[in-house]
Amino acid sequence: MIKTRAYAARSSTSALAPFELERRDPGAEDVQIEILHCGVCHSDLHTARGEWQNTIYPCVPGHEIVGRVVAVGNGVRRFKPGDLAGVGCMIDSCGHCDSCHEGEEQYCENGFTGTYNGPVFGGENTFGGYSRTIVVKESFVLHIRHDEKDLARVAPLLCAGITTYSPLRHWGAGPGRTVGIVGLGGLGHMGVKIAHALGAHVVLFTTSPGKIADGERLGADSVCISTSPQQMAAHANQLDFILNTVAAPHDLDAYLRLLKRDGTMALVGAPAEPHPPSNVFNLIFKRRRIAGSLIGGIRETQEMLDFCADHGILSDIETIPIAYINSAYERMLKGDVKYRFVIDMASL
Ligand code: NAP
Ligand code: ZN
Repeated sequence: MIKTRAYAARSSTSALAPFELERRDPGAEDVQIEILHCGVCHSDLHTARGEWQNTIYPCVPGHEIVGRVVAVGNGVRRFKPGDLAGVGCMIDSCGHCDSCHEGEEQYCENGFTGTYNGPVFGGENTFGGYSRTIVVKESFVLHIRHDEKDLARVAPLLCAGITTYSPLRHWGAGPGRTVGIVGLGGLGHMGVKIAHALGAHVVLFTTSPGKIADGERLGADSVCISTSPQQMAAHANQLDFILNTVAAPHDLDAYLRLLKRDGTMALVGAPAEPHPPSNVFNLIFKRRRIAGSLIGGIRETQEMLDFCADHGILSDIETIPIAYINSAYERMLKGDVKYRFVIDMASL
């Protein structure tokens, strides 16, 4: 077994603090990665604080992992020591259900294994990227083609990148389509960059007037302050697709009214409490849809990483030492992140 330092929450109310855990020795199909950087997703906060009522403690969050391969098993063909590698939100799935066969492991009918807090359907707890090293099955490890100097800025692509890329692709964001992105946080800022790179006309909806200039710089064609009924009214019936990343319950009707006939709003934000019920008339009169989307499959995650490498897309980050993580969570709750915290693991 390989001992590694980590940071863990011991309960829903305790701050994250130093912790030690053991990784398995790499088996024939395994890749061992020295973690260099790990992004801080709002899901880490929801999970560490038990907001989804499913956390197993101690909990070591972190599913935006980038680092260097330090060892591989005999059967590993696609990685060798020294390679850069990434690990996202999943480290395993059943491999034989329809979803797994179709490369949509995140919808595995027998339950994928999360990188942390993984055994939703049984098995041992899993510990995530707020640690120095991780051992993962080769088929769940991603190649990174970006320049090594940008590695910290690649980390957030492993969750925020794929969680926005997958629904944008699924619902056809591209030239001639008007796409709304709701919330300019970790997911939202990647959504703006990716939707812009896909060629869509992008409208950013934010509650924060201080983010207007950033929204435009990141790729939004226009920015709407969502707390202004007048500004919202100007977009009524205009949008083909809305990607809603907000991490708190809010009025969905305000956005449904902005969709064209047959438009879809996909929810990716996962608040602890339900949204207030939406008015069915906003759906039936224009055959609009509310949908959801969960991260993305491994094949699509690699496609997204390559797309971002080809288009020079990186996350806008603030690098932090691990000891700052509890303050980072407090700032995230205030929407005070530009636009992703990334932990420098050398600080652990
Ligand atoms: P984040 O960085 O905290 O960004 C959330 C943004 O939502 C904020 O920056 C803010 O943007 C906006 N917002 C508006 N009202 C808010 C309120 N009352 N409270 C909090 N935020 C508010 O979070 P994130 O990491 O992007 O994650 C967003 C959500 O997606 C979380 O619930 C997370 O768990 C979930 N998630 C889902 C998946 C999936 O697979 N579906 C994957 C990863 C994360 P403005 O200032 O622009 O209004
Ligand atoms: Zn995440």
